[in-house]
Amino acid sequence: MCRNHHLLLWGSLLLLLTASCAKRPDIHNGKLLIPDKTSKLELQGTHSTDLMYTGCGGMIIAHQNEAIITDPFYTGQGLMRVPLGVRINPKNTRRVFDSIRQKLIDPHQINAALIAHAHVDHLLDLPYLLNNDMLNRQLQVIGHRSVYCTIRSFMPAGTSFTDTLNTWVNVSPHIRVMALPSSHAPHTRNRLFLQGTTCPNGIKGFKTPLSSTSLFKWKEGGTVSFLIDLLDTTGKTQTRLYIQSSASQAPDGFPPAELLAERPVDVAFICVASFENVNNYPEKLLQYLNPAKVVLIHWEDFFRKDFMEHPKIIRATSTKKLIERLQQFYQFSSQKLLAERVYMPKPYTVFHLR
Ligand SMILES: [Zn+2]
Repeated sequence: MCRNHHLLLWGSLLLLLTASCAKRPDIHNGKLLIPDKTSKLELQGTHSTDLMYTGCGGMIIAHQNEAIITDPFYTGQGLMRVPLGVRINPKNTRRVFDSIRQKLIDPHQINAALIAHAHVDHLLDLPYLLNNDMLNRQLQVIGHRSVYCTIRSFMPAGTSFTDTLNTWVNVSPHIRVMALPSSHAPHTRNRLFLQGTTCPNGIKGFKTPLSSTSLFKWKEGGTVSFLIDLLDTTGKTQTRLYIQSSASQAPDGFPPAELLAERPVDVAFICVASFENVNNYPEKLLQYLNPAKVVLIHWEDFFRKDFMEHPKIIRATSTKKLIERLQQFYQFSSQKLLAERVYMPKPYTVFHLR
């Protein structure tokens, strides 16, 4: 892509990002927001899963001393720095991993990395984690082939990549994952930036995990959603999770109906970013999944350096409207009642599913 085209794209993106700056509120979602650092998520039946929300589409899900990681992205990219290139600050990555070690599990027990698509805010930290031996040495990466092309040169021997869709992949004795073909919400009502793939050659100039690269080189590839089964010791599904970290137009990303008939979803993780650019989102998806609990993710403005410690709501997004719509959808008379079913965690929140 030529330099002028980059500048034009950056200009449109900057306009979009600054458009709603003046009236953008701090976090204001009262009961829904989980301000403390741990929370018990009560479900029907027996459950023994713990998870940490790490911001954007990121989570660590720990079950039976096994774990998976999703969409690792831990360094906010200051808005004015972005034209110079995006890159991680490894201090942030280390801080997240210290927290995982203290509160959840030894990160070397993380057997799989689930990546929704290859944009920077879903993938930027994975090369560093791979290069520094911070995950299991037999790690399986699951996502679209573009994810593989972006990170291939950082994958040590022993790690593997899977892009199989609609099929269960056993990532460890008690965890199985199904990637579901999905789609990416437009960034504005009718424009989706950063399409295409990074295949076959990856990102030019991305030589080390600390290299600075243009945001525009992190092409989406294809987008997937995930169904995750956490199994008991007899191999039966104990807990079923659903993750959609990019708002998708229904029925994209829907799991097969027969799977849901066999076993409903306990907790659905739903994307806040760009929800207004997708028709009937997330109502259509929630109607189809009928999850017992809903966790709203990818709601922070990651164009802020300290987006994990002091998160603000992503620009051009009305969480107030989303919450009103959810309240109407579930026909709760107050936000307090809605907050028993829907959660919006701050990064570093740990959920105990019981
Ligand atoms: Zn994206």
